[in-house]
Amino acid sequence: TVRTRVAPSPTGDPHVGTAYIALFNLAFARQHGGQFILRIEDTDQARSTPESEQAIMDSMSWLGLDWDEGPDCGGDYGPYRQSERKDIYLEHVNQLLQSGHAFKCYRTAEELDELRAQRQESGNSMALKPSDLKLAEDEVAKREAAGAPYVVRMMVPEEGVCDVEDMLRGVIELDWSQVDAQILLKSDGMPTYHLANVVDDHLMNITHVIRGEEWISSAPKHKLLYQYFGWQMPKLCHMPLLRNPDKSKLSKRKNPTSIMFYERMGFMPEALLNYLGRMGWSMPDEREQFSRDEMFSHFDIQRVSLGGPVFDVEKLRWLNSLWLRDLDVDAFAEKFAAWGLQGDKVKPIIPHIQPRVEVFSDVVPLAGHFLAGLTELNKEQFEHKAYDDDKMLATLQYGLWQLEAIRHWEKAEIEQRLFALAQQLELKVRDFLYPFFIAIAGTSATISVLDSMALLGPDMSRARVRHALD
Ligand code: ATP
Ligand code: GLU
Repeated sequence: TVRTRVAPSPTGDPHVGTAYIALFNLAFARQHGGQFILRIEDTDQARSTPESEQAIMDSMSWLGLDWDEGPDCGGDYGPYRQSERKDIYLEHVNQLLQSGHAFKCYRTAEELDELRAQRQESGNSMALKPSDLKLAEDEVAKREAAGAPYVVRMMVPEEGVCDVEDMLRGVIELDWSQVDAQILLKSDGMPTYHLANVVDDHLMNITHVIRGEEWISSAPKHKLLYQYFGWQMPKLCHMPLLRNPDKSKLSKRKNPTSIMFYERMGFMPEALLNYLGRMGWSMPDEREQFSRDEMFSHFDIQRVSLGGPVFDVEKLRWLNSLWLRDLDVDAFAEKFAAWGLQGDKVKPIIPHIQPRVEVFSDVVPLAGHFLAGLTELNKEQFEHKAYDDDKMLATLQYGLWQLEAIRHWEKAEIEQRLFALAQQLELKVRDFLYPFFIAIAGTSATISVLDSMALLGPDMSRARVRHALD
């Protein structure tokens, strides 16, 4: 049976790219009556968080990307979280060490820099090869005896061509000279993506690996690892990456990429999924509006086109409007209430507004911005005695850069960064915050703008400041 998977790393807000890849894996599995697996690739311990893992699962569920096996629901091939599979990876690394397909590398960071500099000088590719890295045996013994830290790297050919078969592209040729002696096990005993991914895909019986084209260059290493282990490699299919309207790779600098942003904007999950299904793919009759199940029953991966699909929020809004118009009044009312007034969106706001209201109708002017998207702002709203135009723009721009640099979105960090900036700009905190109040809430007569940003989340907050700068 066909088994596909999506394997996100829980290192931030759930990405629309993850949903897009998940959709095509799910469609392929359903079309073949197979299974679709969710595997959490959390080997980067410094960057992975349980909140991010939860957010990935919540947003996939919201979109209707249902998985058959995963960390929450289990399955026959678990655990489905890589951090719980360390022993499995160690066992496999030892196997490669024993068969001579991998070696312990005791090179220090300075030595590696020097080796790279040497390669650059001699005009070679920057890929470090086993021949560069290997130390004389007595040197290895010396460092081993001294308890020096090491990593385990895989053997790779010095030259020649590697053929990789891709379901959409046919045979791709890649030069071995560009492929480095990839680290498989880090000095902290954690596997790298490459090792864990190959071992898990094999042990989880994955038959088709459908993923973003950014991974094509990794395919030779993966192919080699399958050979070293004597395993059959799953079929590979590299999907074109989503693009900004200017054709650059979709990135959060230019477009909100978090699925949570689209939920907060009030897109219907059916419409977002429909739009993701239009990324590089079309229905046989070219119709634009279709449901998940309609997509699955007409799915054919060979109809994916390789030209970079543009993720255009304006187009998505238009498609969403078609879905909204199809709702009858009761359904519209119900969905609107569920989006805006129940649960997650309203509850966290209450503690901030309750002390400041006398009747329910006071809530709307205080908290309306929690239910808004990107609203029209005019210049007069921004006028303030502490600023001229240039200074206002510069303040918002510097502030935006600070907001973009935040990894863990929480009030304390937003506050610390913005207050430091206020000091640098020699502005009183109150004056400094004024343009942020306008950008975020449209008024300064509302709850603390730091609380608003913390509650609105990174993508919506950044998008509003960016919108104010436009
Ligand atoms: P950004 O450029 O916005 O910072 P990123 O590449 O850093 O994005 P990651 O957080 O590394 O994003 O990626 C999260 C997931 O989304 C990965 O699985 C990645 O493959 C996928 N992804 C990121 N960008 C795209 C894209 N343009 N098209 C399709 N998938 C993408
Ligand atoms: N963890 C990888 C990612 O975040 C998975 C890539 C793959 O599917 O092999 O995209």
